[in-house]
Amino acid sequence: VRVAPGLNDAEMRAALEDLARAVGSEWVFTSDEDLDLYRDAYSPLMGQPDERVASAAVAPDTVEQVQQIVRIANRRRLPLYAISTGKNLGYGGSAPVFSGSVIVDLKRMNRVLEVDERNACALVEPGVSYFDLYDYIRKRKLKVWIDVPDPGWGSLIGNALDRGAGYTMTNYRNHFDSHCGLEVVLANGEVLRTGMGAMPGAKTWQQYKPGFGPWVDGIFSQSNFGIVTKMGFWLMAEPEAYMRGVVQVPRYQDLAALVDTLTLVENQRVCTGMMDLFSPLLSVPGSAEYPSWLENGPPKVEPERAALLSAADIGYSPALEQYALRNAIPYWASNMTFYGSPRVVQAQWETAQEIFKRVIPGVRFSAGELIRLPLTEQQKERAHLPEFGIPSLSIFSIGARSRLNPEPTHGHMWFSPIIPRSGAAILEANRAFTTAARELNLPLAGYFNLPYFFWERSLIYIVGFAVVDDPVVNRKNMESFKKLIRIAADHGWGEYRTAPVYQDAVMDTYSFNDHVLRRFHETLKDAVDPNGILSAGRYGIWPRHLRGAKH
Ligand SMILES: Cc1cc2nc3c(=O)[nH]c(=O)nc-3n(C[C@H](O)[C@H](O)[C@H](O)COP(=O)(O)OP(=O)(O)OC[C@H]3O[C@@H](n4cnc5c(N)ncnc54)[C@H](O)[C@@H]3O)c2cc1C
Repeated sequence: VRVAPGLNDAEMRAALEDLARAVGSEWVFTSDEDLDLYRDAYSPLMGQPDERVASAAVAPDTVEQVQQIVRIANRRRLPLYAISTGKNLGYGGSAPVFSGSVIVDLKRMNRVLEVDERNACALVEPGVSYFDLYDYIRKRKLKVWIDVPDPGWGSLIGNALDRGAGYTMTNYRNHFDSHCGLEVVLANGEVLRTGMGAMPGAKTWQQYKPGFGPWVDGIFSQSNFGIVTKMGFWLMAEPEAYMRGVVQVPRYQDLAALVDTLTLVENQRVCTGMMDLFSPLLSVPGSAEYPSWLENGPPKVEPERAALLSAADIGYSPALEQYALRNAIPYWASNMTFYGSPRVVQAQWETAQEIFKRVIPGVRFSAGELIRLPLTEQQKERAHLPEFGIPSLSIFSIGARSRLNPEPTHGHMWFSPIIPRSGAAILEANRAFTTAARELNLPLAGYFNLPYFFWERSLIYIVGFAVVDDPVVNRKNMESFKKLIRIAADHGWGEYRTAPVYQDAVMDTYSFNDHVLRRFHETLKDAVDPNGILSAGRYGIWPRHLRGAKH
């Protein structure tokens, strides 16, 4: 057997026997073949001595078994790492942050405990995937939607705890924000319920978030203070209709007004769905165009435009702009989505157009079809399903061989800083990261990078760092990634989430007042998990006995 750090062979065997007694020996995994499943398929350290791997895995079926595992780990000083469905590709997969930890795999705990259609909320266990909940809802013909991320095989709980995002209405896309109430097994084996769940017999655990007193839910996301065994979520009431509208603006300088106006219509809830940014001129596709790019490759750029694009300075030159105006090619554009009754959706789209017309001379619009829901099977074939609350795995075609991506890689690590919601910030980010990419000799995708509007009031700038066959290139890219984290921080932009290999580097940049935030996390860690058994190192929080060492 593999031995976890801090234990010797005999201690590890004794710990595994304890775990087998708690959950049944068939649910304790120690063979290389089984443990390979807990490697991070996108790891830039794949096959290297410092790849982060598990020493064993244990798969409990009940909360009581999770409690027993935690108690054993305390007694035996066994490092644990809890995952839900463990599909965190791009952000670490199912591998532990502290190599040699024992994975607590919660996939078997996959019960949908309740879906309340009237109040549009649900209570689930960690192993419930988006597909599972979707099937449960469909079988019962309940008129509620889930907000799903692109890969539908993930867990509502795992995704929300890592603060993931989806594609439907504004107030559901931030998955941790749309949770309501947690159940957590603490490091000492006690079960804590947050919010109204703290009251025995509470009638509103999934309906009222804060409960009474300090709202502690936040400390269980991107952390290692407990193992979450139940979580409530607010769902979206099924809308009657959906519509996509496109706004196009002609000039380079219109970017600022376009972003400000998109933000205004979102804040006013004139636009209730997702919005994006794309550039027909600079060949940056929007969410609606992407599937056809994958299938057919990017649209051909005629030679004059190609020459102007190559000569432009980070997406701009007066000659390029003149070309765009002459040929009526929009510099920037946005897809906006609307949900509601057909009349409301129509009125919202008309109102949005009026607002844009007041602010941006030369703005143009094109309305997509108003789709009455639910989608037909035929409509489903063409739709970006997550916008309709339908889980899917079609996103993985972006990594596969395609006309857009003729040489696929082994995956990628997302570099994903949060930047302000303004045209100026988008230009500044492009200048900063393009300059850095040139200095660090990183391949750049395209002429310009446009950020995503997942969450309100900020933008997320995402770059996928390819993971390739060559370990030397991967190491070089990891160093570059760390430099980009620093460059972003120097501009006041921070990563929202990152893979384990970068978590310390990112936490280093959240350094206000001599790293008081990290010190506060450590104070909490010492108090709630004094033996440091839970997910050591996650998001830069190390237990006392491992602090300061290089990981
Ligand atoms: C092509 C591609 C597209 C993607 N698109 C999206 C997207 O649109 N939106 C998005 O959010 N993500 C996206 N991702 C990232 C990722 O795949 C998803 O976020 C996925 O849902 C995370 O995996 P999971 O749900 O299985 O969570 P897990 O891997 O189970 O959990 C994530 C982490 O949370 C912690 N954790 C999990 N469960 C518990 C628990 N019960 N108690 C304590 N700690 C726990 C662990 O540290 C774990 O490593 C994408 C990835 C790829 C490769």
